[in-house]
Amino acid sequence: MRIDLYTHPAMLDHFPGPGHPECPERLVAVLEALGAASDLELARHEAPKVEMEDLLRVHDEGYVDAIVHASPSHGLIRLDDDTLMSAGSLEAARRAAGAVVSAVRDVAAGRAERAFCAVRPPGHHAEPGAPMGFCIFSNVAVAARAAQEAGIEKVAVVDFDVHHGNGTQAAFAGRPGLFFASVQQWPMWPGTGHPSEAAPDNIANAVVAPGASPTTWRRTFEGLLDRVDAFAPDLILISAGFDAHVRDPLGGHGGQSLEEEDFAWATRAVASVARGRSHGRVVSSLEGGYDLEALGRSAVAHVRALQEG
Ligand SMILES: [Zn+2]
Repeated sequence: MRIDLYTHPAMLDHFPGPGHPECPERLVAVLEALGAASDLELARHEAPKVEMEDLLRVHDEGYVDAIVHASPSHGLIRLDDDTLMSAGSLEAARRAAGAVVSAVRDVAAGRAERAFCAVRPPGHHAEPGAPMGFCIFSNVAVAARAAQEAGIEKVAVVDFDVHHGNGTQAAFAGRPGLFFASVQQWPMWPGTGHPSEAAPDNIANAVVAPGASPTTWRRTFEGLLDRVDAFAPDLILISAGFDAHVRDPLGGHGGQSLEEEDFAWATRAVASVARGRSHGRVVSSLEGGYDLEALGRSAVAHVRALQEG
């Protein structure tokens, strides 16, 4: 099966500051690893800048205006402790969201079935009215709403990043036709996403302890996917964060210990639900993953598993 790949070199021009883990080299690592994997059949697409109208289905107008006005012409500005903007950040953030929107529109129009969006900045922490945790726009949530506008009734997001996708959850909570399923380490920043928290029925959170085995992680993920399967989505989006990898400086190192084959397994499990419920349709978007080597290898394993069908 062909994989449609959405990306843009302008996403390399977002510099959140020296030593920041969410560095341009992450995207280089992903694209180089994908490019070196000769068995992958990739159809490349240039990610457009997201339209204001698409952002405003999720984000407050005042927030989007504030981001546009905050965008510096040189140097860095700090949106919060972790989230900074350089001169290229606004365009990068618009292309990151635009990539996922473009992918779901191609899927809705029958031009694509499986897609991977190699993007940065990531999106799943950005709230409707606030930036957070390296994220400016809620890429996947914006795309889910665009998918609904394009006629896809029910959209599920599966988020396997080691951190809770608080922003996607905030955008989805209680909204008809949307379902959010997220597995994260607990305890872990941002401190949300425990299944005991009060949340609407369309939110499913699951947690794994620091030091959990890959077997435990897989069992937990399977439980989440049962909820996604029961929702019977017409399209599944993946918030593909690879920071539960054993080598990851933020999520590994005494935390999670996944390897690339675990991400491949998780991807196949999502694809299996998609075959049964969603006409096979899966659009995945990069979130975290901060060890460059592990990130490249994991992205290839993920895309290869998407390609299997
Ligand atoms: Zn993360």
